[in-house]
Amino acid sequence: TNWVYRFGGGVSDGGKGDRNLLGGKGANLAEMASIGLPVPPGFTITTEMCTAFYDNGEEFPDTLGPEVEAGLKHIETITGKAFGAPEKPLLVSVRSGARASMPGMMDTVLNLGLNDETVAAMARESGDARFAWDSYRRFIQMYSDVVLGIDHYIFEDALEIAKEDKGVHLDTDLTADDWQALVATYKEKVEEELGRPFPQDPKDQLWGGIRAVFASWQTERAKIYRRLNDIPHEWGTAVNVQAMVFGNMGETSATGVAFTRDPSTGANAYYGEFLINAQGEDVVAGIRTPQYLTREARAAANAKSASMEEAMPDVYAELAATFARLESHYADMQDIEFTVEQGKLWLLQTRSGKRTAKAALKIAVDMVADGVISKEEAVRRVEPQALDQLLHPALDPDAPRDVLTVGLPASPGAASGVIAFTADEAERRASLGEDVLLVRVETSPEDIHGMHAAKGILTARGGMTSHAAVVARGMGRPCVSGAGALQIDRQARTLTVAGRSFAEGEQITIDGGTGEVMAGEVATVQPELSGDFGALMGWADEFRRMNVRTNAETPADCRAAREFGAEGIGLCRTEHMFFDSGRITSVRQMILAEDASGRREALAKLLPEQRSDFSEIFRIMAGLPVTIRLLDPPLHEFMPQRESDYDDVAAASGTSVDRLKRRATELHEFNPMLGHRGVRLGITYPEIYEMQARAIFEAALDVAAEGEAPLPEIMVPLVMGAPELARMRALIERVAAEVFAERGTDIAYLIGTMIELPRAALRAGDIAEHADFFSFGTNDLTQTTLGISRDDAARFLGEYVDKGLLPKDPFVSIDEAGVGELVELAAERGRATAPEIKLGICGEHGGDPASVHFCEGAGLAYVSCSPYRVPIARLAAAQAAL
Ligand code: ADP
Ligand code: MG
Ligand code: MG
Repeated sequence: TNWVYRFGGGVSDGGKGDRNLLGGKGANLAEMASIGLPVPPGFTITTEMCTAFYDNGEEFPDTLGPEVEAGLKHIETITGKAFGAPEKPLLVSVRSGARASMPGMMDTVLNLGLNDETVAAMARESGDARFAWDSYRRFIQMYSDVVLGIDHYIFEDALEIAKEDKGVHLDTDLTADDWQALVATYKEKVEEELGRPFPQDPKDQLWGGIRAVFASWQTERAKIYRRLNDIPHEWGTAVNVQAMVFGNMGETSATGVAFTRDPSTGANAYYGEFLINAQGEDVVAGIRTPQYLTREARAAANAKSASMEEAMPDVYAELAATFARLESHYADMQDIEFTVEQGKLWLLQTRSGKRTAKAALKIAVDMVADGVISKEEAVRRVEPQALDQLLHPALDPDAPRDVLTVGLPASPGAASGVIAFTADEAERRASLGEDVLLVRVETSPEDIHGMHAAKGILTARGGMTSHAAVVARGMGRPCVSGAGALQIDRQARTLTVAGRSFAEGEQITIDGGTGEVMAGEVATVQPELSGDFGALMGWADEFRRMNVRTNAETPADCRAAREFGAEGIGLCRTEHMFFDSGRITSVRQMILAEDASGRREALAKLLPEQRSDFSEIFRIMAGLPVTIRLLDPPLHEFMPQRESDYDDVAAASGTSVDRLKRRATELHEFNPMLGHRGVRLGITYPEIYEMQARAIFEAALDVAAEGEAPLPEIMVPLVMGAPELARMRALIERVAAEVFAERGTDIAYLIGTMIELPRAALRAGDIAEHADFFSFGTNDLTQTTLGISRDDAARFLGEYVDKGLLPKDPFVSIDEAGVGELVELAAERGRATAPEIKLGICGEHGGDPASVHFCEGAGLAYVSCSPYRVPIARLAAAQAAL
C-alpha cells in the first residue's frame, strides 16, 4: 500500500474525492493545491494507517518510514529548506484530519522541527529574533501538551509569572530576550516533569507528533464527539505533515478563519475573524479578541480595530477572490483557515462550513435560485435533524427582559436555565431534569459532554468562531460568546455582571440570536417558519414516496402536526385521554369493578367523553386517516394513588374503600409491561373495546354529518397471533353494524393491528387475513425483541454503544439487524397474504432520519412521529427516496 500522499508545489497525489482515505483536511488541501491555490506543501498519511496502527498494537509498519522520508523530501524540494538543518531549517505542522470534521477534537502540533540550533537559524535568517523564540516557546508548550502529556497550565503559569515580573499584561509586550528566557524555563519544566530533556532531534519530534495525532483519535473527548455525531470508530484519522507558514512574523503577517457565508443566518456575506501577528490557534482559542474581516462587519459591530479589508486591502482582495473561487468550486459554503506571512496569502484548510438550520435552509434555497445546485441537491443537503432548531420556541418579543449584558450572537435560539460553571456540573444537573446553561470563561473540547447536556452556552471570552460557538452551532444549542462583562469566579462559583451576582443554580436566559444575557426566565413563543423553510419542504414533498403522519391525541398536538404537514394520525393513544381529571375516577371505577356489569356502568360514563375526544380530533383531521389504538397500557397505571382517590371511586361506585383495596391487590402484576394489557384487555373485558369502538363510529358519523369525514383506522395493540385479532375484528364489526343501523348511515373504516411482538411479526401471514393494515410499534417491538426495558436501559446502553456492542441506541434508531429484520419479514409475510395491506410505523423511530431511511427500504407506506418531528420526517423521507 501507499501510505503517503503528497500535495503542493504543483503536485497533488489525491483530491477532494479521497476524503475517506485522506480525511477531509488532507483531501481538500490536495484539491486546493491542484486548482492552483497557494497551499504550503506537505503530505498526508492515510486513515488506513490509523487503522493499521491500532490493529498492530500501536506500532507503525516498516514501510511507513521510507514513505515519510520521501514526503519530507517533497516538502524540502519545494520550499528549498531542510528539516533539522542548521541553515534554512524546515518547520512543519502535524495535523489531524478525519473523514468527518471533528472541530478541535483531535490534536495538531505547530512549529515542529525547532530546537536550540534551528531556532538560532530562524532568528538569524528572518532577522527577527522575537519571532523565532516566540515560535519555539509555542512549540515546546504545544508539543509537551499533545505529545509528551504535560499539562499546559505549567507553561501558562510560567508565562504569567514572566509577565508579572516584567510588569506587562500582553504577550506582545514581551521581547525576544524574554521569550528566550522563557524557553529556558519551559525546557527546565519539561525535564522536571519528564525526567529527560525536551527532544532535540527533529526526526524524533516528527515521529512523536505523528504518533500523538493518531493517538488523539482515541481520546475520551474524540470518542464522545463520535458517539454524539454517529461517526464510526473504525474510520480513523489521517495525519497531515505540512510546511509551516508564519502569521506571527510582524505586522504584515496574520492568521484567520472565515466562512464564505454567514453560518448563523446564511446571509451571503463573508464572515470571519483574523488576528495580526499571531499564529494558528490564537483565533479559535479566544486568547485575544480577534478583528473583523470586512469593513462592513466591523462597522456594524462598531469595533475600533481595523478590519482586514482596511488593514491589508491587497491580501484581503486576494482572499475574497479565493472565497468566491472555493465556494463555486465546491458549490457549497466553505469554512476556510488562512495565514498571511509577510503579505503573502496561504490557505491552510477548507471544508463545507457547519451552519445552523436557518442558514442551511437559506443557503440551499439561495443556491437553487442562483442555479448553483439542483432542488434535489438542496433537499439532500439539509440535515433533517437540524430542523429541530427551527421548530422550537424563541423568546417572546413582548416579554419583559432584564438584560444584564450583551455578548456575541454565536448560535441562535433562546435558552433559559440554571447556571452551571463546569461541564460536569451541567451534566449532573441535567440528569436531574434541570434545564442548565453552561457558563464558562471559554470552552474547550473537554467540555463537550457539558455542552451537550446544557440547553445553552454562555462564555465570557472568544469570538464567533471560538470553540464554544462552533460546537454550539453544530449541536444546535443557543450560544452567546465573548460576553466580556461577565466576571466568573470559579472558586466561589459566582457570576458577577452589571453589579449583580448570580450563584450556581440561579436562573438566567440567553438569546443566541441577539447576544443578550438576561436575569431569570423569559417567556417564549413559537417561531415563524420562514419562506425558505416552506420552499425546501415543498421540494421535499415532491420527492418523497412515503406519507408522514403524526402521533397525537390532543387537539393542540393535532393542529400543530397539521401545520407541520402531517398527513393523518398514525397513532392516537386512547389511554392518554383517560387521565383527564374529569374522568379518571370513572376509569378507576371500571378497572376496580368486580364484574362486567360494574364495568359497563363505568364505561357508560366514559362513552360520551371518548366520543367528544374523537369528534374533536376527527374535525381537525377531516379527510385524513386517523389510526386509533384501543386501550393498551397495563391497568395498574390507572390505579388509585392516594387515599382520596379510593374515596372518590368508592363514592362513584357505591362500594367500600376496603373492597376496592382488596381488588387492587388482586390486580397487582409483577411485570405489567408483559402482563394484562393490550388486546388481552379486549379479550378479557370486551366491553372496554366495545365502548371505544362505539365512541369512534358515533364520532365519525357526527363529523361526517357536519362535513368531511375522516378515515378511522381502528388498531388493536399487542396481538401475538391471528385468533386474537379475528375475535376483536368480529367485535368491532358487530359494534359498527349496530351503530350504523341505529344511525341509518355508515362510514368507511379499517381494522388493523400493531406488530409489536416478535411472534406477531412471525405470524404476520395469518394475522394479515384479518387486518386491513399493520402498524409497526417499534418501541415495544424493540423492547420485546432485545428483551430490554426502555425505562431501565439507561444504566447500560451507553456502555454498550461505547464498546461497540450495539451500533446505536436501538430506541433512537431502529436496530436494523434485529428489529429491522422482523419488520421486513412481517411486511413480506403480510403482503403475501394481503397484497394491498397498508404498512406503517408508529414508534419513536418514525421521526429518526436513519430509521426513516430504513422504512423507505422496507417499502412502508408511511411513518408516524410526534408533531414537532413531522418536518424532520418529511425531509428524511425525501432524502431516502432520492
Ligand atoms: P483543527 O483541526 O483543530 O482546526 P488544524 O490542523 O487545522 O487543527 O490546525 C489549527 C490551526 O493551526 C490552523 O487553523 C492553522 O491556523 C494552524 N496551522 C496548521 N498548520 C499550519 C501550517 N503549516 N502553517 C501555519 N499554520 C498552521
Ligand atoms: Mg482547522
Ligand atoms: Mg406498544
